[in-house]
Amino acid sequence: MRNVIFIAPPAAGKGTISDYLIKHLGYKHLSVGDLLRKEVSLNTPLGQELDEIMKSGKLVSDDIAVKLVSQELAKISNSPFIIDGFPRVLSQALKLDEMLVSNNITNNCLIYLDISLDEALKRVLNRVICPKCQRSYSLNNDLFKPKTEGICDDCHTALTTRKDDNADSFKKRFATYLENTIPVLEHYRSQSNFYELDATLSSEELIKEVLKIIKSEADQ
Ligand code: AMP
Repeated sequence: MRNVIFIAPPAAGKGTISDYLIKHLGYKHLSVGDLLRKEVSLNTPLGQELDEIMKSGKLVSDDIAVKLVSQELAKISNSPFIIDGFPRVLSQALKLDEMLVSNNITNNCLIYLDISLDEALKRVLNRVICPKCQRSYSLNNDLFKPKTEGICDDCHTALTTRKDDNADSFKKRFATYLENTIPVLEHYRSQSNFYELDATLSSEELIKEVLKIIKSEADQ
């Protein structure tokens, strides 16, 4: 099965699809946002600095994001894996290309999930996450609701909302995303392992489309 690199605005459904691939197909998950939130929860000086940046809806420095990806990639690349939330800018895309080549990781696909601001905002206001294991739930989707209201299915921790999931911060994150990601899409669009999906499909349909892609022959 192919490794998946998601390129998508916040709340396009990367988390939901990732959860499915992890649970049913043994994928490993590399989410830069989750790794950053873990650092914030440790309340280190770096964590406090990152918290301010993330709450403002801006991106953390490339150095930090690239370092996190490179460290995690070394740990997980023996299994099929998902990279979620990276690359977000062209400089990160170029770094990722280098990291994949230098680690001899070739069986990859890039999946772009296309969604409008209005639709993404609606979803964000219905999202809760587990502060311990970072699993994300959608309260308006029966397939991805927690089994017990307010409690994580996996580690039984009380669910919470993300600090940056409010309308103002979200609109900033979305605008930052659009501004930065267009060059990333231009960089990858002509590659034969680049796929574009409509994120407003139902979760079931999206997962079906992703399964077709990851099980198809790598044609890069
Ligand atoms: P996410 O969980 O992907 O929505 O990311 C939450 C926040 O983490 C973003 O708004 C950024 O502040 C930061 N972040 C996540 N991924 C990256 C990245 N690749 N580069 C820089 N900052 C990132």
